[in-house]
Amino acid sequence: MNKVKDANNCAELNLLKIILWTYIILCFIIAGLNYGYAPKATQEASEFITWFWHFYENYVKTFFIIICSVLTVRIVRKSNSTSMRKRNLVGFIISALVIHIILPLILQNKELYFFAMPLPWTTTALQLLYENSNFYLSRYPVWGTAGITTALIFYIVMSIIVFVGTILFGRRFQCSTLCLFNGFVAEVFEPAIPLVGKKKKINEKSLKFFNILKWIFLIVSFLFTFYWVLFLFGVPIYNGTQVLGKIENYKYLSTELLMTMFFWIAFIGRGYCYYCPLGTVLGFLSKISGQKIITNNTTCIKCDKCNLSCPMTIDIKKNAVEKIAVNNLRCVGCGHCIDSCPTRNLSYSTKFLSKYNINLK
Ligand code: SF4
Ligand code: SF4
Repeated sequence: MNKVKDANNCAELNLLKIILWTYIILCFIIAGLNYGYAPKATQEASEFITWFWHFYENYVKTFFIIICSVLTVRIVRKSNSTSMRKRNLVGFIISALVIHIILPLILQNKELYFFAMPLPWTTTALQLLYENSNFYLSRYPVWGTAGITTALIFYIVMSIIVFVGTILFGRRFQCSTLCLFNGFVAEVFEPAIPLVGKKKKINEKSLKFFNILKWIFLIVSFLFTFYWVLFLFGVPIYNGTQVLGKIENYKYLSTELLMTMFFWIAFIGRGYCYYCPLGTVLGFLSKISGQKIITNNTTCIKCDKCNLSCPMTIDIKKNAVEKIAVNNLRCVGCGHCIDSCPTRNLSYSTKFLSKYNINLK
């Protein structure tokens, strides 16, 4: 009987890995075609590439999220509780269905997902307010004025939802249920990561490196944002909007898309979340929200399972032993520690949740 279960588990894990490989390879092919080949291709070829990109980004990605969420819960439940993960995965499925399928169909814009991440993640929304920016010039022929207005309204609504949601529910709201960039891949494919080699904890040296990277990315994002805000208010500190637009595009393509989609996902999963500028800002907001992992529901038996399951290398056990809540800036609120605790000692809360006596566990 056990052999049959192991074989099923192995088959499901292998399938998850194959889908993750496929996802990463397709990301590379589409990014290459879209940014490298399409500008030089014939009109017919370029139209096909755009169709393929939209189809992949919206339909294939959502299909992968649904199938792989089911696989992940089936794999994890053999050794852990899955209550927190199920909440995360349901959140990602709803988020993907709304942002990648329902709204694009209703609003007739297949690239709405560009605007699902608020500042300071990208300044694309600000660039859309300037008619001569690279981004505006590339999107105007496709969306028209009405489409651009719709995208901006969607962006404002998403930003309000993310910031208010984080104040109420902590960083978990975006990073473990909504983020369709790195958050969803890290959760949906978690048992298959790393694709090569064995799971390793991030050492002190790498943590320091990520910490430096976090501040660099945050400063760079704020500089881009301030630049565009000043420019739009008619106080340009530099007139090369085309050059800056290109630099930001390359930053997105190289350090974000390629590093995140291949390197971090394949080896660390949440690697990008250690220094994502939006994640850092939401980390500070989660302090205001009073986000914490409560550690005194029962007694800690020092099994270390919480620490081993934490994708953000947070020492939960140390606090659990002393019954002190964990409120680390890095915590993405995924709840893996909560699911992995054999004595069900841990739970997740914020000021808002505790007002209504809700502890997620
Ligand atoms: S840290 Fe950034 S990339 Fe990671 S889940 Fe949060 S918003 Fe997404
Ligand atoms: S402390 Fe727990 S909830 Fe926070 S990132 Fe680590 S595993 Fe996730």
